[in-house]
Amino acid sequence: MRSQEKRCVVRLPDAIKLALASEPRKAVVEVALLVEIHCLVCNRSTRVPEPILLEIAQYLQGVSTDVGLLRLVCTVCRSSFPFDYARRWEKVIGIADVPLDEKVNRAWFLITGECSNSCSPVTLIAIRPFGTASTSIEAEFPFWKKRITCSANHRLVKLTIHPVCLP
Ligand SMILES: [Zn+2]
Ligand SMILES: [Zn+2]
Repeated sequence: MRSQEKRCVVRLPDAIKLALASEPRKAVVEVALLVEIHCLVCNRSTRVPEPILLEIAQYLQGVSTDVGLLRLVCTVCRSSFPFDYARRWEKVIGIADVPLDEKVNRAWFLITGECSNSCSPVTLIAIRPFGTASTSIEAEFPFWKKRITCSANHRLVKLTIHPVCLP
């Protein structure tokens, strides 16, 4: 369980460091903010540690994709909905200890969707429970094809998972 899907390593440059003034060297507690993301279609929520959102944004910046609005795919209804990355702070609902417990940690996948009309491909992000394998994302694809369209409202006919290898 712990060893699979290890390619999504959580880095924590943005984690808050709380240093107690009396013991500046010893008492550094690292925590991650938890962001609650609601699906705009079915309203179900997922809690995602902020460092994971940061990791997604940094990856997308690296491949020069616009990170303003992440297009997430809901775990429950498998529709896609936009998430405003820049306003993620407004959705903070708590904190989690670092290193992240498996219950709050998340795996994420980058998927490109193409319609049959040669529109530009859409970049989709699936955030799933830690340990989710890419084969279970592929198993969702028939549902995605029914519910997700390109920006011109054509059905997606081809979905491709991209291996995300972070340094
Ligand atoms: Zn949903
Ligand atoms: Zn299209």
